[in-house]
Amino acid sequence: MQETAVAALKAMAGRRERDWPRPDHCRVITIANQKGGVGKTTSSVNIAASLALHGARVLVVDLDPQGNASTALGIDHHAEIPSIYDVLIEDTPMEDIVVPSPEIPNLHCAPATLNLAGAEIELVSKVARESRLRRALDSYDIAKFDYVLIDCPPSLGLLTVNALVGADELLIPIQCEYYALEGLGQLIRTVDLVKAHLNPKLNVSTILLTMYDARTRLAAQVAEDVRAHFGEIVLNTVIPRSVRVSEAPSYGQSVITYDPGSSGALAYSEAASEIAHRGAGAAK
Ligand code: ADP
Ligand code: MG
Repeated sequence: MQETAVAALKAMAGRRERDWPRPDHCRVITIANQKGGVGKTTSSVNIAASLALHGARVLVVDLDPQGNASTALGIDHHAEIPSIYDVLIEDTPMEDIVVPSPEIPNLHCAPATLNLAGAEIELVSKVARESRLRRALDSYDIAKFDYVLIDCPPSLGLLTVNALVGADELLIPIQCEYYALEGLGQLIRTVDLVKAHLNPKLNVSTILLTMYDARTRLAAQVAEDVRAHFGEIVLNTVIPRSVRVSEAPSYGQSVITYDPGSSGALAYSEAASEIAHRGAGAAK
C-alpha cells in the first residue's frame, strides 16, 4: 500500500469504524449534473477513494472527455491509452481498459481520453446507442466490485444518457450558489424519460451539496431550498469549500490521501459513509 493511503487510514483510525457495510450487490451510481464545475468529478473521485479506503472494491468510470477523474486518480490517459472510448465505440471489453489506482488498494478506473469527445457524434449512428455502457458493464464481471461510480461530462448528451441507462442510482451534486437549481428540472425530465423508455430501475437516490461557503447566507439558503424540495435523499453532510480539495488533483491524488485531516477530506469521508450506510434502497 502506498504511504499516502496508509497515512489516510491512520488519520481515519479511531475516528470511526474502519470498514463500512458493503452492499450485497454491486451498486452502480452515476454522478451527473449538466452544469459544469459543480463538483461531479471531485465527488466521484473522493467518494470512490473514501469507500475504497473503508474496505469496498470500487471502479470509477470516467465518462468525461476531459479525463479529470482519471487525472485525479493518477491514471495515465493520453490519446493512445485504451479507454472508455474503445468500449463504447469499438466494443472493446471493459477488462481490457480497467486499470488499478496507483495509490489506493481496491480502487480501479476506466480512463477517458480526449477522443471521447468524438463519441458524442459517433454514437448517434450506433446500434443501441443509449445502452452501450450498460451492455459493456453487463458483459463485465462487475460483481467483483461493490461500487461502480460513473463520472459524467457537463451535458445531457449521449454520454450522460449512457451513464443513466447503465446505472441503478443517480447522485446529483449541487453547488451551493445562486443558479444551483437552474437546469435541475431538465435533468430530472431526462431521468424520467430514461426511466420510462430505457432503464426503469434508475433511482435518484442521492443529492450532495458541494462547495458550501459557511460565511454566506446565500449558501445556507440554497441548502435549505434543496432540502425542502428533495427531502431525505439530500445527504446530511455538506462539502465545504476547501483549497485542499482543489489542490489534490494536480498531485494525481484524492483529497483523502493528499490531506486526510483537511475539512474537505473529512466531509467527503462522511458523505461516503452516509452513502454506504444508507444502502441502495434507503431513499426509494
Ligand atoms: P465538475 O466535474 O462538475 O465539472 P469539478 O469537480 O471538476 O466539477 O469541480 C470544479 C472545480 O471546483 C475544480 O477546479 C475543483 O477542484 C473545484 N472544487 C470542487 N469542489 C471543491 C471544494 N469543495 N472546494 C474547493 N474547490 C472545489
Ligand atoms: Mg468533471
